[in-house]
Amino acid sequence: MKHITHWIGGQPWTGEAERHGDVYDPATGQVAGLVDFATSADVDAAVAAAAEAFATWRGVSLARRVTILFAFRELVRQHAAELARLITAEHGKVTSDAAGEVARGLEVVEFACGIPQLLKGGFSENVSTGVDSYSIRQPVGVVAGITPFNFPAMVPMWMFPVAIGCGNTFVLKPSEKDPSASLLLARLWAAAGLPGGVFNVVHGDKAAVDAILAHPGISAVSFVGSTPIARYVYQAGASRGKRVQALGGAKNHMVVLPDADLDLAADAAVSAGFGSAGERCMAISALVAVDPVGDELVAKITDRVGKLIVGPGSDARSQMGPLVTGPHRDKVASYLDGGAGQGAVLAVDGRRHPVSGGQPGGFWLGPSVLDHVTPQMSCYTDEIFGPVLSVLRVPSYQAAVQLVNGSPYGNGVAVFTCDGGAARRFVSEAEIGMVGVNVPIPVPMAYYSFGGWKASLFGDTHAYGTEGVHFYTRGKVVTSRWPDPSHGGVNLGFPVNS
Ligand code: NAD
Repeated sequence: MKHITHWIGGQPWTGEAERHGDVYDPATGQVAGLVDFATSADVDAAVAAAAEAFATWRGVSLARRVTILFAFRELVRQHAAELARLITAEHGKVTSDAAGEVARGLEVVEFACGIPQLLKGGFSENVSTGVDSYSIRQPVGVVAGITPFNFPAMVPMWMFPVAIGCGNTFVLKPSEKDPSASLLLARLWAAAGLPGGVFNVVHGDKAAVDAILAHPGISAVSFVGSTPIARYVYQAGASRGKRVQALGGAKNHMVVLPDADLDLAADAAVSAGFGSAGERCMAISALVAVDPVGDELVAKITDRVGKLIVGPGSDARSQMGPLVTGPHRDKVASYLDGGAGQGAVLAVDGRRHPVSGGQPGGFWLGPSVLDHVTPQMSCYTDEIFGPVLSVLRVPSYQAAVQLVNGSPYGNGVAVFTCDGGAARRFVSEAEIGMVGVNVPIPVPMAYYSFGGWKASLFGDTHAYGTEGVHFYTRGKVVTSRWPDPSHGGVNLGFPVNS
């Protein structure tokens, strides 16, 4: 059985863990690995390594940091298939989807390769006679990332390339459900030439998270996960004076206006609702059909859903894999009877969907569609985080906007229409952080920032992009006067970076 341990100071941890967690292969339901759980002393060791490394890393030239980032980018590209296989083995998602998450994570690494441009300050000559002013951005110190199970490579990559590129050192606490990808990434950092201690990984559960939140040596915490834990992490971290950006859960709506191309909309709803078995924070979970398109749209969706191939993620024919754990599968499935009991129509029952080539013990649940859902039902109010699409019918554009804006979440939303004016109005009126127009999963590119509104994000800055750079740096303004010019020596060599 695979043993997964921490990565501290540039190497695997050699200690004896007091507690462990099981890591499952979701396609078989069997325990495939054992992951060490960190105590607060183990977190201390990781923070000590990161603090020691920070003393020199913050002084390493931008040119050298970027050289290492470029090398890391090449290594991740070379190992992308291996990373994807690791993700599939522990998360369950199909390998093409896992490869997609690695590719999206790589975009942030590539963005971070250009970080010198974003670390440039401003300069004002002669703010007073003989006095100049300029601004610089400096790293904040040791920063931590706490990440969810659903993107074991991409979400950590939203954080650490930017943090490290800005001159910080990093302690990652990945999800204990699929911890292996983080260790391959750690090995790739080492191979890229990153000094030991700049990137560390501690595994574990609440005990490790609490040790991070309590640690006085950690200056900033990036969190991605469910809303209750995001709120907790934000409050606990901020009350101890840390910077915190805590991205939470979601309930993403897709509004289909009467003039939309219904085939396009049905394809998008099925792709965005059931890709990665609905275990995406940007998955579409609430389809809002504006009268009169409901019946036709649901018919097109159920037709497509029936043809989806559910099976092991490692089988290239599978379009949807199993769910991450047995308890999660059972909880997701409970919303089917729950929704029907509250008056929804179970148009497609995923419990009956055939599983192609899967073992009986796997955490299987096929795609389901609940129709005639109303805003009071728990299948609508709760984040289900599985392959269940709820269809709500509304009489008008205004009612659709009211529904979307009434949600406590504000991560993503999409509108499907052929009317540019309606789309433009929707973009303006939706109280949501990321909006798609005929695009169901509008995850921003690395040079924009990712983040929701309301209960989908606690804190002020979104992840990656310019906001990520701001999160991982502090501004400083310098006012200077030099009474006499100084002279350097003569040097005819061509200046090079070192
Ligand atoms: P989770 O909140 O259970 O876990 C996230 C992290 O917090 C993990 O590292 C976990 O070990 C830790 N954790 C769990 N319980 C804790 C506790 N009681 N105290 C302290 N730490 C704890 O989330 P998950 O199930 O791993 O991931 C799914 C959730 O993440 C969904 O709600 C999804 O919407 C959300 N998510 C959000 C985004 C976003 O960008 N907003 C992206 C991906 C996932």
